[in-house]
Amino acid sequence: MKKITIAIDGYSSCGKSTMAKDMAREIGYTYIDSGAMYRAVTLYALKNGLFRDGKIDVPELESRMDDVRIAFKTDPATGRPDTWLNGQNVERDIRTMEVSGHVSHIAALPFVREAMVRQQQAMGREKGIVMDGRDIGTTVFPDAELKVFVTASPEIRAQRRYDELKAKGEQVDYADILCNVEQRDYIDRNREVSPLRKAADAIELDNSHMTIAQQKEWLMEQYHKACAE
Ligand code: C5P
Repeated sequence: MKKITIAIDGYSSCGKSTMAKDMAREIGYTYIDSGAMYRAVTLYALKNGLFRDGKIDVPELESRMDDVRIAFKTDPATGRPDTWLNGQNVERDIRTMEVSGHVSHIAALPFVREAMVRQQQAMGREKGIVMDGRDIGTTVFPDAELKVFVTASPEIRAQRRYDELKAKGEQVDYADILCNVEQRDYIDRNREVSPLRKAADAIELDNSHMTIAQQKEWLMEQYHKACAE
């Protein structure tokens, strides 16, 4: 079967990565979590003291961008790709509330987006890729054969994120998570470069009341249709 490019965009915590990961495994494609890359840059900035009084030292971060080396390596135990930053596995560290609270500000910086988009496009050159994010169908792969835009209500998304973090043993508060989800939606939708929006040719999926199995079935149908076209 011909290889295609699959772009899955949408709001924070709406289950894009679960869908994208499962699908990639099932059809033997490479999965790339583009949000993990913005999270890794954010972790770098936090670890290197580039946030002062909540503000980013933009010129310093820009001058150090070549120093931020991001890679994905499959964990043999889970079979899933982990995010590495400058030779260290940071898969867990990039998922904290601290990183979630800063990432949308970092992701709004044009030079950060340029660097990430360049790497993402290089990763997808051979097709056979499922990438999830906010601007994959609009900016990274505008010619993707299958584009999905996922939505769900902020309350449902915050509950899912709460359950996920709790399951990992983190001490979290539902109200804080809801606030973070809403803030990130706002910043992602209103930034100047590549704001979050549905590509004109993307298929919208509101998964508020769908199970993971139902989503998967729906996505596989879209995949088979896209390959047949
Ligand atoms: O997907 P995830 O929620 O992990 O992404 C973290 C943040 O990275 C998002 O809130 C958004 O600000 C940013 N992001 C982005 N463009 C992408 C993927 C993520 O701006 N393609």
